[in-house]
Amino acid sequence: MATHLRRLSKSSSLASIPAPFRQHYYSSTQGRGIPVRASFSALVSGGLALYYFSSSPTIAHLDENREENAPNVALDPEKWLEFKLHEKAKVSHNTQLFRFTFDPSKKLGLDVASCLITRAPIGEESDGKKKYVIRPYTPISDPDSEGYFDLLIKVYPEGKMSQHFASLRPGEVVEVKGPIEKLRYKPNMKRQIGMVAGGTGITPMLQVIKTVLKNPDDITQLSLVYANVSPDDILLKAELDKLAASYPNFKVFYTVDKPADNWRGGVGYISKEMALKGLPSPSADSLILVCGPPGMMKHISGDKAKDRSQGELTGILKELGYTEETVYKF
Ligand SMILES: Cc1cc2nc3c(=O)[nH]c(=O)nc-3n(C[C@H](O)[C@H](O)[C@H](O)COP(=O)(O)OP(=O)(O)OC[C@H]3O[C@@H](n4cnc5c(N)ncnc54)[C@H](O)[C@@H]3O)c2cc1C
Repeated sequence: MATHLRRLSKSSSLASIPAPFRQHYYSSTQGRGIPVRASFSALVSGGLALYYFSSSPTIAHLDENREENAPNVALDPEKWLEFKLHEKAKVSHNTQLFRFTFDPSKKLGLDVASCLITRAPIGEESDGKKKYVIRPYTPISDPDSEGYFDLLIKVYPEGKMSQHFASLRPGEVVEVKGPIEKLRYKPNMKRQIGMVAGGTGITPMLQVIKTVLKNPDDITQLSLVYANVSPDDILLKAELDKLAASYPNFKVFYTVDKPADNWRGGVGYISKEMALKGLPSPSADSLILVCGPPGMMKHISGDKAKDRSQGELTGILKELGYTEETVYKF
């Protein structure tokens, strides 16, 4: 236990985290040696309800089986591994943030942009074997974080996996495998990256945004057009606004279907005008990333093909002159 606590406190070293991320990692718990809690609290700040549970942050469970030949990463692409829920917090009326912890001397082992797959038992097959629901999710924590990762998950009333996540209590586990690489990001690979996200489609964008902004040698210009139903549905707005205020190479524009009285962003679905204003122009030096619910994908870029390949580019991006080479659908 003593060794484990030493490793945990080692992971509180913030020297490698540039401002303002460093501020996210320090909060009212600074100095208590529980960095996973500090950064989590900051992520869901801004008037959002935060529900702490009294679980221990010192969870090494995952590595007990893998100590011998494990590289310095927690994920294994070939094996389902159990990760313990450390804490969860509500970030909107239907979306929650889940923090899972592992050996604090390890990183998750995720390249940007990647997702992982999760599974949970939902009864038995006719032959008596466990029956599972399997769904992909995109961690939003910094891939360099040691000892934890965060998932931002919309909980659907009839959703098999999201309801399972919602029912998890700290200390309980979910099985995870990965990573599954989506788009290999390289610093300065494009001069400009535009992002179109809807709802939880923000998750892969957050991976890219954080990776670009924390690297002072990466001068990519980032712009995000983020669509939601109402202002209350905008996920992690406080964090996005803070990044936009701190980094001149990151701009964000919000649009909602149902604005509040004092709303100052866009209204309605993402229009051609919003795309023209908020995204880089079509060019070999720019890339547009798109992620959102099927209706939004259809409207913006066309959905991915049935085999999950990129599929044909249609929608307003096509009409504005973008090509399949300069658009990536998550
Ligand atoms: C690569 C990838 C990454 C993903 N990353 C994330 C992530 O970071 N966070 C996240 O919350 N989700 C993410 N998803 C979606 C996630 O994998 C699940 O599809 C989602 O959580 C619903 O699963 P479920 O089992 O709860 O619902 P299901 O049991 O599959 O669906 C039950 C009902 O829920 C509703 N529903 C489910 N999905 C949708 C939808 N997309 N739009 C509208 N209604 C829906 C429908 O009414 C449906 O009938 C990602 C998907 C992909 C492909």
